[in-house]
Amino acid sequence: MNLKDIQNKVVEVSDIHAKKCNTKRDNDWYILKLQEEIGALTQIYLSNSSRGRNKGIVPEQLQKDFADELSDVIGQVLLIANHYNIDIEEALERKWFRYLI
Ligand SMILES: [Mg+2]
Repeated sequence: MNLKDIQNKVVEVSDIHAKKCNTKRDNDWYILKLQEEIGALTQIYLSNSSRGRNKGIVPEQLQKDFADELSDVIGQVLLIANHYNIDIEEALERKWFRYLI
């Protein structure tokens, strides 16, 4: 599965979720939601590194939760790219992969 395929699936899931929850996804929702997801990722990171409450959650679950929140951040980034018509693959090529030449 390439990045565009993943992005399309993320958009499809977001559309379903927004409809189900009646979420208003206006222009700044995308960035604000990313900030929320980064906060959740940071919270799990702190718990997983003994710098936050772990609420009795075992390390294996914290690692899974960390992975889940990281996937939320990536999903939200892909939603932003889709919303603002950004070709994220092209941007990655231009900004990151130019160093591989
Ligand atoms: Mg999350």
